[in-house]
Parts: sequence; C-alpha cells; structure tokens
Amino acid sequence: MTTPFRKVKILATLGPASSTPQKIQDLVKAGANVFRLNFSHGTHEGHAQNVDFIRIIEKREKQPLGILVDLQGPKLRVGQFETTQITLEPGQEFTLDLNQAPGDTTRVYFPHESLYKCLEIGTSILLVDGKIRLTVKKVSRDSILTNVEVGGVLSNNQGVNVPEVLLPISALTDKDRKDLKFALTLDIDFVALSFVQQPKDVLELRAIVKNKAKIISKIEKPQAIQHLEEIVDLSDGVMVARGDLGVEFPPEKVPALQKKIVHTCRAYGKPVIIATQMLESMIQAPTPTRAEASDVATAVYDGADAVMLSAESASGKYPVEAVEMMSKIILSVEQDALYGKILDTTMPQMPVSTSEGITSAARGLAQSLPAALIVTFTDTGGTALRTAHKRPPCPILAMTVDIKTTRFLTIVWGILPILIPPTKNFEEMIKNSLKYSKELGLVKKREKIITTFGIPFGEPGSTNSIHVEEVS
Ligand code: PGA
Ligand code: MN
Repeated sequence: MTTPFRKVKILATLGPASSTPQKIQDLVKAGANVFRLNFSHGTHEGHAQNVDFIRIIEKREKQPLGILVDLQGPKLRVGQFETTQITLEPGQEFTLDLNQAPGDTTRVYFPHESLYKCLEIGTSILLVDGKIRLTVKKVSRDSILTNVEVGGVLSNNQGVNVPEVLLPISALTDKDRKDLKFALTLDIDFVALSFVQQPKDVLELRAIVKNKAKIISKIEKPQAIQHLEEIVDLSDGVMVARGDLGVEFPPEKVPALQKKIVHTCRAYGKPVIIATQMLESMIQAPTPTRAEASDVATAVYDGADAVMLSAESASGKYPVEAVEMMSKIILSVEQDALYGKILDTTMPQMPVSTSEGITSAARGLAQSLPAALIVTFTDTGGTALRTAHKRPPCPILAMTVDIKTTRFLTIVWGILPILIPPTKNFEEMIKNSLKYSKELGLVKKREKIITTFGIPFGEPGSTNSIHVEEVS
C-alpha cells in the first residue's frame, strides 16, 4: 500500500459531476469506499448505469466497493407557483391547501392530506430547510391557515418540515416502493431509509428487502431520537442525516445529537455514518474552510465508522479533491495519539459471549504485544464487526469467501475486506493470513499478526480461537 491504511471510511454520493467510469475510478483512487446513489435525484437508468460502472471499477482496482441506495422517504413538499417563486413577509397569513392550482402569495398546494388532521393551532411548519417559519392558526380537512413568523423566498416544490408531529405516514412512499423494487434488481449492498420515525418503519423495509441488502436508518426526525435504541438495534447501520436533523432540531442541538447517535451505535456494535455539509464549501472551492476540516475531524474523534460527501462529490466542482481532502483529515486524526485514548475512554461495553471475549482478547493482544494486524475469518461479517467495535490500534484484515460480505464491510471502521478461496484447515488458514498480509503491504518482517477464527471450520458464528504468528 502506498498511503497508510485509513480506518474511517468515505462515502461519496454520485451525481452529474461524477457519473462516469473515469470519475468513479478517480474517486476510488482518492479514497472513496462506498458510493451513494441518491434516489431523490436522477433516473433509474442513470442509477443502474452507475452500478455497472462501479462494479467495473471494483474489478479493475481489485478493491471491494459498497453501493448504497438512498430512498427519498416522505419528504414533504409544497406544490408550484404561478410565478415560480414568491416572497413571504413576516406577519402575513399564508394558506397550505389541497387545491392543485398554481400558488401565489396567499396560498399553495400542499399534497399531504393525512397530515392535516395531525396539526393543531400553534404547530410550527418550517419551509426551505427551516429558513421560513409558519405557525398554524386554523386547520380543516383541506386547508391550513398559518401566520408567517419568519418570512423569505419560497420556490416551486421546496421542502417542508413539521418537527413536532409524528407524521401519520409510512417511511416508504409509493415512489420509494417503486424505487426499491427497481434497486433490488441491481447489484447493491445497502438501502438507506429516510425520515425513519419508529422501529416499525425499519421492520417494514426489512420485510421487503429481506437479505438482499443491509438496512441503514437515517436519523433526521425527533421521533427517531425518542426510539433511538430500538431503531439502532433493528438496523444494520445508521446515518446521522444532519441536513434534515438540523432543521427538525435547532442547529445548536446537532453536535450533542451526533455524539449521542454515534455512542448508541457503538454500544450496539452497528456502523454509523456522519453525513451532510461536511465539506460544503468544496462544492465551489478546491479547499475547505477550517471549520469544515474541524467538523470532519470531530466525526472521526467521536468514533464514527464513516463520513459522507453529498453535493461535494455529486454536483460540485471538485469531487475528487473533496475525497482527497476528507482522506487527509481522517488520516491526520488517526495519527493523533489522543484519538486512540478518546476511543478507549468512550468504548461502550458489549454483552459477554465467546466471540466477544475472543475479539476483546485480540484487541488487548494487539495493544500489548504489540501486533501490526488482526486477521479475522468471517462469513457474515459478524466477527469482523465485533473486532472493529473494539477499535483496535491496528488494521483488521477481514477474509471471507462471500463477495457480499466484503462489500458490506467497506462501510465499517478499521476493516480491509478481501475475498479468498475457502480454507480447509488451520495450516492453510495461517498460510493465507501471512500471504495476503504481506501482499497487501500490511506487515513487515518480525511484526506480529493476530488471527481469530472458529473451529470447526465453515460454521458461521463459531469464533472461538486466537493465534499469534510472527512474520518471517
Ligand atoms: P438527504 O439526507 O440528503 O437525503 O436529505 C441527508 C440529510 O438529511 O442530512
Ligand atoms: Mn434528509
């Protein structure tokens, strides 16, 4: 390996600025581990083509790549205006209704009928990412009269947030169901569910996805924070979706919420992604602000598994530079001695079990011997996840015979996943550990490798053994 191994992973959203094989390859070389296909934008055809491109690059670069399909979810929107946009003045009245006619400065179409009955006098309605604030004055079956508290410019189809209300709708809209049906015909690894409110939202998605992909719950509603532990427990991973989270909650609440969500995910051993506005100014500029560099670093210090780029890589001017910058910031934190100490002191306890004990021991040995590498043999990825959960001081080489497992592990802290042929016995396993570790440049002569595995071979979930080998 030319650059040092990076433990925290990078997700890059694809879009008009990055949807060619060449750009995808450049993003991988710059450090992208997972690509996000944002189904709020683009066409099915375009997303399918990106999946093909990614799989071609994956083969060419001999490196597993994750693909995450992000469903739009029940994003509330206003309809259209006669004049494309209007200006709302503070103190004026404004009506949201079920009339499909183009809107003006007095009213606009708001096509979410089931929501009307959940509103009360005084409920806040936020428009344009919270820039405009309305309060409900009067509400009926088909119209909501509001008072404009904070005014501003409102354009066609802009977003609406109603933080105080548990929306009486499924996290899967008709569009999401169609998108999901299509996405599940593609070779993808993760499905992200937007605006999760309750544990049953995750179960509903799980019933459709089955084992075709891992489920990532996007935490962006206050109602999800109320059920955080259950939602984390039911999900395969979580995204701190700070865009909408910072509208549904006041922005000053976002840092503590980010820490709470990361901590809960670590307690449940689930990978967690920090998303949105990480290097926002790089949409336009080749370098980030100091505050953005600090924000990416904070996500890493918090113990996140991965950080994500949105418009920076999808539609910005500098997608490759943004990934390179993210990678540099992460590596710089990982080289800080304080990082390991923070991870240690914030490490939650996991319930006791044999495989927990083995992975804990591997981590302890990696620190005390010390060892240059932990190798895990993993079928479903479970042992690799448990090892990563301990945040050991060295990389984790996860060997598996299942290509889906290599791709799932692209999102997880500290893991380098590789696909290997089935191993028949102990000798062959140790031989493979040494061979691949050396080939990948992860170890040098006289360094130690710790291997965890399960005997008998080939039985998932049976990790019960640990072995130390010195590189000759
Ligand atoms: P979105 O999700 O970009 O799909 O809205 C991320 C967020 O809300 O932060
Ligand atoms: Mn969102």
